[in-house]
Amino acid sequence: MSDRVEAVKKLFTSKSSRVETNKGESYYQDLFEKCEARLNEMRALAPANKLDFSDLLEENGIDRREFMKWASATTAMLMLPPMFTPLVADAAVMMNRAPVIWLELQDCAGNSEALLRADGPKIDEIVLDIISLEFHETLQAAAGHQAEKQLDEAMEHFKGKYLLFVEGAIPMGMDGQYGTIGIKAETFHDHLVRCAENAAAVIAVGSCATFGGIPAAAPNPTGAVGVMDVIKNKPLINIPACPANPANMVGVILHYVLTGQVPELDSLLRPKFAFGYRIHDNCERRAHFDAGEYVEEWGDKGAQNNFCLYKMGCKGPMTFNNCSIVRYNEAVNWPIGVGRGCIGCSEPDFWDKYAYERPMADAKIKAPTGGVEKSVDEFGLGMLTAAGIGIAIHAAASAVAGKREEGESHE
Ligand code: SF4
Ligand code: SF4
Repeated sequence: MSDRVEAVKKLFTSKSSRVETNKGESYYQDLFEKCEARLNEMRALAPANKLDFSDLLEENGIDRREFMKWASATTAMLMLPPMFTPLVADAAVMMNRAPVIWLELQDCAGNSEALLRADGPKIDEIVLDIISLEFHETLQAAAGHQAEKQLDEAMEHFKGKYLLFVEGAIPMGMDGQYGTIGIKAETFHDHLVRCAENAAAVIAVGSCATFGGIPAAAPNPTGAVGVMDVIKNKPLINIPACPANPANMVGVILHYVLTGQVPELDSLLRPKFAFGYRIHDNCERRAHFDAGEYVEEWGDKGAQNNFCLYKMGCKGPMTFNNCSIVRYNEAVNWPIGVGRGCIGCSEPDFWDKYAYERPMADAKIKAPTGGVEKSVDEFGLGMLTAAGIGIAIHAAASAVAGKREEGESHE
């Protein structure tokens, strides 16, 4: 826990950050007052469920000091200055005032699994436990008519106030007939549109809900698309990755409870606090990349020495996500940490464009629409291509430097 706290703090206070983390004293003073007013409004609301956060902390043996350390790291993760820590702690306690309706569409339920991680009760999990999950068809006991009634009642009762989490893509082929739900065989498309109508905000979770994910991989037989291709008239936040990191789900809900607004987003509607950095910027193997030390084959000496995985196809240089810092399973580890390159799961079309075992600059990949294999340049991936080529040149130069040093040391 403390490593993670320090890593997150260091990241968001670093001077070389690409994301603007210091917007000036008057901006934060103004925001602080707005957040205080918002929390007072939330405090006046009755909890939507009977769960008490303090009781849950006590039951799980977590003391106030540990909780405040978590609040401090989470404040940094949300790109807020330390003065916001007590407000973030208050917002966590009031998470049961934010009703959540969770839909599962064309998916594998991996994000629900991530939400339910069973590696022992940690503070992120307790925060997620306390949210008022009003409807989740996989987790709830109700089924059939009873489940439909529960959904209708939740939408009516919390009209305009609930957060609609959506997991899974939306099949648009055959008039949406690839995915239907309920006794009236409502298509996933119509189900989503109906449930989004009175939501305060829609949060697409995981690669499928954000950018179509694996269901949308070429040749995309069901015509799968992401939520942002369907819902246009609502505040929408994308939390991609396969699965999305629960810490980022907590961050988005906390931000909403704290400010009543969606966090600052990038051009793909991803919260900048989580997706403002590339994996490569903060990777623990970065020094090996710079020194030209690569894994060349699975199981070789480089692999045994935790060298850079770029030549084995790591897409960290093109992928925006905070897993190199926040990691998975309460910061226990993450893919690159266990010796597997990043496959760019938080980027659009990751399955078609990134998930093969060679660097982008060497890539021959199939067009999502089928047809002949093309190089990345021919696909015109714009900046990513330029980054890929730049990185390839850097990698080649570093490799030469690495070899030269090796040669010199043998002389
Ligand atoms: S290429 Fe991948 S393994 Fe190498 S430093 Fe970058 S992110 Fe880390
Ligand atoms: S390291 Fe890359 S592939 Fe793995 S979870 Fe993070 S973004 Fe996704």
